[in-house]
Amino acid sequence: MKGVFPITIFETTDTPFYYYDTDLLRKTLHAINDEIDKYENFYVHYAVKANANPKILNIICQAGLGADCVSGGEIQASLNAGFTSDKIVFAGVGKSDREIKLGLDKNIYCFNVESIPELEVINQLANECGKVASVALRINPNVGAHTHANITTGLAENKFGIAMSDMEEVINKALQMKNVKFVGLHFHIGSQILDMGDFIALCNRINDIQTQLESHHIEIKSINVGGGLGIDYQHPNRVSIPDFKSYFETYAKHLKLRKGQSLHFELGRSVVGQCGSLITKVLYVKHGAVKQFVIVDAGMTDLIRPALYQAYHKIENISNDEDTVTYDVVGPICESSDVFAKAIDLNECHRGDLIAIRSAGAYGEIMASQYNCRSLPKGYIKEEMF
Ligand code: PLP
Repeated sequence: MKGVFPITIFETTDTPFYYYDTDLLRKTLHAINDEIDKYENFYVHYAVKANANPKILNIICQAGLGADCVSGGEIQASLNAGFTSDKIVFAGVGKSDREIKLGLDKNIYCFNVESIPELEVINQLANECGKVASVALRINPNVGAHTHANITTGLAENKFGIAMSDMEEVINKALQMKNVKFVGLHFHIGSQILDMGDFIALCNRINDIQTQLESHHIEIKSINVGGGLGIDYQHPNRVSIPDFKSYFETYAKHLKLRKGQSLHFELGRSVVGQCGSLITKVLYVKHGAVKQFVIVDAGMTDLIRPALYQAYHKIENISNDEDTVTYDVVGPICESSDVFAKAIDLNECHRGDLIAIRSAGAYGEIMASQYNCRSLPKGYIKEEMF
């Protein structure tokens, strides 16, 4: 065992693969539950998009969280893992008729609706099957988040949600529809947010919206503030559990909930990010003209975040403790962007060494593709490795 890894078992396992430290996942879930138990009416729905590995979903379900889904496939995966439909919320700008029907058929807790045409289709499909769908309207609050542009979702220029200027018109439409029941508002400003000030800005915006709606006698039963809490990619060991205390305290302090209102969260990355590592093997160490490359057997097909968002992941050579050398760590895919890190120091690498790409539990395995006709990486949990 080297550091946090069962290295001897890794040595006999085909690479690349994802390894999930389920002890850490369970501790993280405990930390979340400990915090939300302090508040009445706080509910966390795990954002399935972050990682839908059935073994991971099952552990999260057992901890009592609900599920936040963005496709029919995610609804089905959540149900298969044991989540009950009354804890499932369904968001997404482009829900197909088939997906809406699945949500209706399973009586999910709420559809987070992103446009008038979508609202009309839900009303019509609910009518056809004799149901009333609970809907929350996803409002685009035009609140920025200090994060990567590709994972900012709450600005007016983003495709998500209903513009604030249209909000009242859409609520009134929903209130008149026979087969939808308007229950509340939904927001999500972005991901990998570490500055609590961004969440405070969202709270302030929601407070203003509530005051405005109250002046028109519009009642809001539930508020869903989405997810977005970030993790410490630099220090996966030192800060392995995100600061849930400050996160929930921020909402408790700044969001003026009305009597009886429930507050829903959709956390993804902060739940599963730190428990996962991508384990890969050094194929070749190549001495280029100006730099040295470590070529590993995992590529952007296994973990696309560095190529897609220029995301940082801590990388470790877990096979030896030799002095460090500076390398670019790259994959085998025929794309120049197939680079995990540039100019990083690693214990000197040799063919066959195992490399851990840390903090890869969220938006890792789930985003894997078969580009270049590659196989999808497997995912193992700690229990399977001992
Ligand atoms: N809710 C919605 C609507 C999202 O789009 C996302 C992520 O994109 C999440 C929740 C989860 O965000 P995070 O993983 O940052 O907590």
